Amino acid sequence: MTELPVLVVGAGPVGLVAASELLRGGVPVRIVDRLPAPSPWSKAVAVHARSLEMLHAMGVDDRFVDACVRTVGATLMGDGNELAEVDFSRVDSRYPFAASLPQDVTERILRDLLAEQGGEVERGVELVGLEQDDSSATAALRRPDGSVEQAAFAYAVGADGAHSTVREAVGTEFEGRFEGTSFLLVDCDAEHDLARDRIYLFLGATGLFALFPLPGKRCRLAAQLAAKPPEGATPSLADAQAIVDERTARALRLSAPRWLTYFEIHEAQVPAYRFGRVFLAGDAAHVHSPAGGQGMNTGMQDAFNLAWKLRLAWAGAAAPGLLDSYHAERHQIGARVIHTAGRLTGAMTSGGALPEHLRELLVSTLVGHTPIRETIARDLSETTIAYHGSPIVGGLPRRTVAHGPLRPGDAAPVVGGLAGRFDIRVHTALSFGGGAATGQRLERNFGPLVRSIAVDDPDGSIGARYGAGEGLLAIVRPDGYLAYLGELDDLEQAERVLARAIG
Ligand SMILES: Cc1cc2nc3c(=O)[nH]c(=O)nc-3n(C[C@H](O)[C@H](O)[C@H](O)COP(=O)(O)OP(=O)(O)OC[C@H]3O[C@@H](n4cnc5c(N)ncnc54)[C@H](O)[C@@H]3O)c2cc1C
Repeated sequence: MTELPVLVVGAGPVGLVAASELLRGGVPVRIVDRLPAPSPWSKAVAVHARSLEMLHAMGVDDRFVDACVRTVGATLMGDGNELAEVDFSRVDSRYPFAASLPQDVTERILRDLLAEQGGEVERGVELVGLEQDDSSATAALRRPDGSVEQAAFAYAVGADGAHSTVREAVGTEFEGRFEGTSFLLVDCDAEHDLARDRIYLFLGATGLFALFPLPGKRCRLAAQLAAKPPEGATPSLADAQAIVDERTARALRLSAPRWLTYFEIHEAQVPAYRFGRVFLAGDAAHVHSPAGGQGMNTGMQDAFNLAWKLRLAWAGAAAPGLLDSYHAERHQIGARVIHTAGRLTGAMTSGGALPEHLRELLVSTLVGHTPIRETIARDLSETTIAYHGSPIVGGLPRRTVAHGPLRPGDAAPVVGGLAGRFDIRVHTALSFGGGAATGQRLERNFGPLVRSIAVDDPDGSIGARYGAGEGLLAIVRPDGYLAYLGELDDLEQAERVLARAIG
């Protein structure tokens, strides 16, 4: 166990999740941001189902649901007509929708949570240097008065965005594609006769145009541009209205602009997420197309995955491989998001590569196909995220009644009486079928880091979802994913798997 705090660089959504989750687990944290005040911009406007499940575990899902528009699906439009629809309603989650709200509201909710955990962002404090040795990481922090403080930390989390100083300090670089597509972004009010709880994607000869709902009459527009705008240029509402008129073939009147900007898409990722005592998360680790709105969601989930591992490491209770599992689990997710977002953007923005009517036909045929449509909905909602090949999960899949096999590394279903029963500071051992003694032995062997629950399941609905059959031991990690699935009497295997995380 160390006395040194953990440093979180950057108080965007990713840094805020990391800092509040570390504090919840009793780890002292300093979170710094070079901006003197929070960013007021709406940037990422969709919080997807898997992130809402994470926010439920953090105790703030209600705040997001109260502040959002529940977006129930996306509609593809071509030449003024509906080509195809994707619906979130059949996604296997307690949240069959995306929560649409501006990013500054997301950040405010997370800052409030941080304050409730006893934390506060140090504003106007910039990381200007970072070194490390075997026992600590030393940061040079420039304060608002210009003085530079040298401070030692147990670990450092680089959540400092796409132009990350932490990334540079550890000597790594983004690898990927940098000659991006340019978009015009507008946050404004809009009068229109489209549904206010759906995303609309308009395909057109001159490029993609997307309309995302926000509370009230507010919306976010994103229009692909044929050419990169001149350096330093700012768009006007008239520019945006002209594109809307040309591409949507319907009455859509823009007013009350809050934010107009140009935005260029890059697709890149760092080759590694861990550098000794320093970790990269969020935009510091991966950037990609905003198609599907995955950037902020993926980043917040990076932070949630990392925080419980850092908590155990800080307390001297982590197995040797636990911190490495952050890269093993999250790098592949980042790579997949980059690939999927790129494909989605490519399919919708292939410009002159295909004649317009053929592209519309291709996209509508593909998206019109039910299994493909449901796969897209699950991918967008991020409910397909799982850590199957992870070095810290194990055991055997279980056949479940209606949902196919449940595998170690899947998200643990939060059904029936299990809602609110998991403590995100510990592993939870769920025994089905009268196996209380099994859970108690795990508690004895792993101390306060494992909590055991003998599942009370009178109608069998929880067991059916877990494939419990005659008896089952399921161990749920602090982040809600399944560390282990196995027989009640095979305690040794369960202990071997747990010992890969808790040492
Ligand atoms: C114009 C624009 C539009 C976008 N639209 C969308 C969208 O529609 N959908 C979507 O999913 N995503 C969108 N994004 C991306 C989304 O905003 C990011 O994925 C998300 O903000 C990532 O969060 P983060 O915490 O990793 O980084 P950021 O939100 O960038 O936060 C990083 C923080 O670190 C601070 N910082 C940086 N360097 C230092 C330093 N050296 N010392 C101290 N502090 C530092 C910064 O001040 C900043 O507050 C958009 C981004 C932009 C810029």
